[in-house]
Amino acid sequence: MNQLFVEGIPVLKKIENHGFEAVFVGGSIRDYLLNKPLHDIDIATSAPPEVVQNIFEKTIPIGIEHGTVLVLYEEKSYEVTTYRVESDYRDYRHPDKVEFVSSLQLDLSRRDFTINAMAMNKSGEIIDPFQGQVHLQKRILKTVNEAEERFTEDPLRMMRALRFVSQLDFNLDEEALKAIRTHRFLLEKIAVERLAIETEKLWRGPALQKALSLLQETGVDGHLPIFKENTRLIDLARKYAKSAFHSLEEIVAFFHLLKEDISIEQWCKSWKLSKAVEKASKRLVSSFSYYKEKGIDAYCLYELDPSRIASFVHLTSLLTKSIVHEDDVRKRYEGLPIKSTKDLEIDGYDIVQAFPDIRPGPWITELLQEVERKVLFQQLPNNKEQIMEWVKKWNPQEKS
Ligand code: ATP
Ligand code: MG
Repeated sequence: MNQLFVEGIPVLKKIENHGFEAVFVGGSIRDYLLNKPLHDIDIATSAPPEVVQNIFEKTIPIGIEHGTVLVLYEEKSYEVTTYRVESDYRDYRHPDKVEFVSSLQLDLSRRDFTINAMAMNKSGEIIDPFQGQVHLQKRILKTVNEAEERFTEDPLRMMRALRFVSQLDFNLDEEALKAIRTHRFLLEKIAVERLAIETEKLWRGPALQKALSLLQETGVDGHLPIFKENTRLIDLARKYAKSAFHSLEEIVAFFHLLKEDISIEQWCKSWKLSKAVEKASKRLVSSFSYYKEKGIDAYCLYELDPSRIASFVHLTSLLTKSIVHEDDVRKRYEGLPIKSTKDLEIDGYDIVQAFPDIRPGPWITELLQEVERKVLFQQLPNNKEQIMEWVKKWNPQEKS
C-alpha cells in the first residue's frame, strides 16, 4: 500500500472504533491503481460530520453542510466526508439537497465516473461496484449509470470528462461522447469558476491534444467563455498547443499571444480569474515579447521570475522556432549580478544625497534604473563606491 494510505489507516481505525465505517475514496484510489503519484487522500465515512468533529482533536469544518470535515492528524490533513447522495440540481450549480446516507454503495453511486467511484478499506481491499478496475484496465472513461442522466444532473461532469481524458490519456466511452454532443449547451448554466478549475486541469494534462480534439469535435468549446465568440480559436490553438501547460497564467498568455485582439483583461474577466493571474500573464507576455525582439539577455532574465521560467520556455517552444532549454535559462538566471532592485548596493536615498541641490523628482527613479541596467549588463560592478563614482559624474542638466 502507498505510504500516504498507510499513514491514513489510523484515521480509519479511529472512526471504526467509534462504531462507524470509514474508507479511502475517489481520485486517490484511481491514481494508486494507475501507479500515479498521489497528492491528497480523501476519506468517506458513515459517521455524521459532528461525530467526526468529536472523534478528532483537530478538525476544520470546511464544508460541513456537504458533510466534509478536514481532519488534521499526525501533521497530515484528510478530507473526511459523510456518505451522501445529492438530489435536484435545479439551478445547475449546487445540489438542492445533500442527504446523508448510511451506505457506501450509495455514496459511490453519486460519483461521476466509474474510475472515480471506488473505495479501499484499511486492509487494502478495493470496493468497486461499477467496474472501475475493468475500465482502468481498458483505459475508458464511463459514467456511473446513464451518461445522459448524469450529465444533465450536473453538466460540469462533461467538462470533467474531457479533463480526465487529458490527464489520464483515456478514451471517452461512446455513450458519454454521444451524451456530451447532445447536452453540451447545458455547460452555459455552470458557474464559470467551476469550469475554470476543470479547464485548467485539461490544459495541464499530458494528453492535451487528444482532449482538445474532443473539445472541438463535441462542440463543447462553443459553450465556453471567449471560445463561443471566437469560433476558430480552438482550431488555431490546436495547431500550436502540442504539450501540457504549467499554469493558468501560461494558458492565458498563450491565447493572447495567439490572438492579440483578445486582451488579457478580457480573458480574466470572462473566466473570472484573479488579479494575480492577470498580472502574471501580462508579465509572461512581456517577457516573451522582449525575447522575440532581443533574445535572452540579462534584462530578459531579470524580468523573468524563477517561478515563470518553465512557462516562458514552454511558450517559446510552442510559438517560436528557436530551441530554449529550461536548465540553461535557470543557470543564466542564477548567474545574474542582481535579481531585483533590492540587491543593488545603492538606493534612491544615496542618489538624493549625491545631489543635495536638486529637487527630488522622477529623475531619481530614472537614474536608479540606469544604474540597475548597467549593473545587470555588467558595465558597472554592484559595488557602492564604484556605483557612486559613476553616479556623481552624471550631469543632472541632461535629464531634468
Ligand atoms: P484530482 O486528482 O484532480 O483531484 P479527483 O478525482 O480527486 O481528481 P476531485 O474534483 O478532487 O477529483 O473530486 C474528488 C472525487 O469526488 C472524484 O473522484 C469523484 O468521485 C467525486 N466528484 C467530484 N466532482 C464530482 C461531480 N461533479 N459529480 C460527481 N462526482 C464528483
Ligand atoms: Mg481530488
